Amino acid sequence: MDCLFCKIAAGQIPSQKLYEDDKVLVFRDIDPQAPFHALIIPKEHIASAGAVTHENSAIVAYIFEIAAKLAAEHALTGGFRLVTNCGADAGQTVPHLHFHMLAGRLLGWPPG
Ligand code: 5GP
Ligand code: ZN
Repeated sequence: MDCLFCKIAAGQIPSQKLYEDDKVLVFRDIDPQAPFHALIIPKEHIASAGAVTHENSAIVAYIFEIAAKLAAEHALTGGFRLVTNCGADAGQTVPHLHFHMLAGRLLGWPPG
């Protein structure tokens, strides 16, 4: 499949990996928006949050579990933001479900 994050998950395109197992990959965003900016992706191709179904939704809970572990490991004591952009209006540019994990600075709200 011609999908950037599938290729990163398969190791065909290099990434700065922070965590990997059989279900998920966590790697640093190439254009970090905060001192800590990781992308958490399922290895299974899911196009976006809008393509989550009863059949594949367990991975979303698992991703949150991994995020909590990462926060502890990286001592993100100030907190973190976990966000997924879905579709054009939200600014999704890579059509493979991913959660941005941002930390290390005060994050504005609401987003622009
Ligand atoms: P989106 O805009 O879809 O919410 O997020 C896509 C993210 O993927 C962006 O923050 C962008 O910087 C990141 N990104 C795009 N291409 C690559 C890449 O080849 N490697 C890495 N590590 N991140 C990428
Ligand atoms: Zn994909």
